[in-house]
Amino acid sequence: MDYKLAFQELEKMGRDGLSASDLIDLKGTGGLTYNDFLILPGYISFPADNVSLETKLTRNITLKTPLASSPMDTVTESEMAITLALLGGIGILHNNCTPEEQAAMVRRVKKFENGFITDPVALSPEHTIRDVVDIKQRLGFTGIPITQDGSVSGRLVGIVTNRDIGFREDLDTKLEVVMTTDVVTARHGVTLAEANQILRESKKGKLPIVDAQGNLVSLVARSDLLKNRDYPWASKHPQTKQLLVGAAIGTRSNDRERLAKLVEAGLDVVVIDSSQGNSSFQIEMIKHIKATYGDRVDVLAGNVVTRDQAANLIAAGADGLRIGMGSGSICITQEVMAVGRPQGTGVFQVSQFARKFGVPTIADGGISNVGHIAKALSLGASCVMMGSLLAGTSEAPGEYFFLDGKRLKKYRGMGSLDAMERNDSDNSGSQARYFSESDKVKVAQGVTGAVVDKGSIKQFIPYLITGLQHSLQDMGVPHLSELWEMVESGAVRFERRSAAAQIEGGVHDLFSYEKRLYK
Ligand code: GDP
Ligand code: GDP
Ligand code: 5GP
Repeated sequence: MDYKLAFQELEKMGRDGLSASDLIDLKGTGGLTYNDFLILPGYISFPADNVSLETKLTRNITLKTPLASSPMDTVTESEMAITLALLGGIGILHNNCTPEEQAAMVRRVKKFENGFITDPVALSPEHTIRDVVDIKQRLGFTGIPITQDGSVSGRLVGIVTNRDIGFREDLDTKLEVVMTTDVVTARHGVTLAEANQILRESKKGKLPIVDAQGNLVSLVARSDLLKNRDYPWASKHPQTKQLLVGAAIGTRSNDRERLAKLVEAGLDVVVIDSSQGNSSFQIEMIKHIKATYGDRVDVLAGNVVTRDQAANLIAAGADGLRIGMGSGSICITQEVMAVGRPQGTGVFQVSQFARKFGVPTIADGGISNVGHIAKALSLGASCVMMGSLLAGTSEAPGEYFFLDGKRLKKYRGMGSLDAMERNDSDNSGSQARYFSESDKVKVAQGVTGAVVDKGSIKQFIPYLITGLQHSLQDMGVPHLSELWEMVESGAVRFERRSAAAQIEGGVHDLFSYEKRLYK
């Protein structure tokens, strides 16, 4: 028998499975979501750890992993945003707080890692150890360049670091007494790589950069070299090397002032947070942002689940779209409003459309395991956004508590009454997303609950990343950037999953079992 005939026979019979378009057949069985289908295996010719997950978050922002955290007050504040960015994703800071508090969170993320620190905190020789201790408490560092007049661009006369003040008990001692005056510096104009080399060779913790007159220009920190080494996938601005961060705003007029503060603090991407993004308010806001800030911040608009909605926001200038209505784990929108869409169908319909304009999409809500991430991406999304999956981690805001012997953290919808009431006084937060000023009755669109402790995202995100690399390997896709092409061309195949098939695909027929996901 000529076994090569196998190929001929395959051609005759046709490829197995369905294309994505045939899977999401709107005239068929109605909307689908992640658990309704599977991806058929492809051909493996590469190791899983070679699979590149690089992807676009927005038109101008590329990440090494397709992972974003939800702008929710039980998910993303600065600690989540810093750690997720270090690991290759991006955090979107919630807006259920005052504009000043939100801007402070942006600033904390942007200050965490730097190339050249262009606005280093400086003091004068007349300041005291107490001032340094105060900076340490407020900002977290003690390496302070000392300039003649204490200004950032003053003449450099010394440097104070932890070692200079560690054993001094008299907090009123002037810095001129303790500062090191024999400072290793570099001349303005050196490249970051050269400055880093000087830092390595001098074995110092900080390298002040000065101009020809000896005035301070910037500062380079050794700890940033270590961060760069330890987190090679970190999502960073290509020039400043600062971590990337996003933040949510609403569409009210006072959100413009909020945004101004966020941009001033260094925001990279703004998420217009609305459960139904197809509105004149949002279109006006997108136009305002593009006109005011140009390319300084990218706009992630949404949420949308249909092509019609997407067309309006793309035409207004959106740099990315967030997809999902009613798919979130804490969400009751579909139940109460009767409006929404199963997430799989929404992701495919919108992504297929938006990709024609080079507008990346983010599948938001309903992601509860690695497989869901892989499926969202295979339906055309460039990134996923996660709430509940990250809510129980140590980087999420809030304290752990025990219930029935389980260690839990609170997780609530931003449209829950609980969250909307947080800012009753200034009407600045999540109320604006789900509630109009003129409403007499608040109709909740979310619930309040709890999720189990997941430990740190420093272990959890690498698990998601490795799991996803294996998933793409099984599909036969070596680069996430190639996935969509392979889906569109019909190379990656799909199949519906009956209710019985879903039971078969889960753990079954055991008396008991323990489900440990990673080690
Ligand atoms: P220190 O030795 O106590 O100053 O702290 P580290 O060097 O361990 O940490 C300093 C971190 O804070 C680095 O990641 C800096 O990029 C960051 N940073 C941000 N702004 C400033 C600043 O104005 N001065 C200093 N010294 N560090 C800053
Ligand atoms: P990378 O080494 O892959 O990060 O290459 P880049 O082109 O991003 O960086 C150019 C230079 O800047 C290299 O010498 C890097 O080591 C250095 N670098 C990258 N990130 C940081 C950072 O956060 N702080 C400092 N001080 N240097 C950095
Ligand atoms: P999860 O990852 O928990 O399934 O979903 C998180 C997403 O749910 C968020 O990113 C946001 O889009 C959405 N969301 C957050 N709070 C609420 C809410 O109260 N109601 C609704 N409808 N959606 C919410």
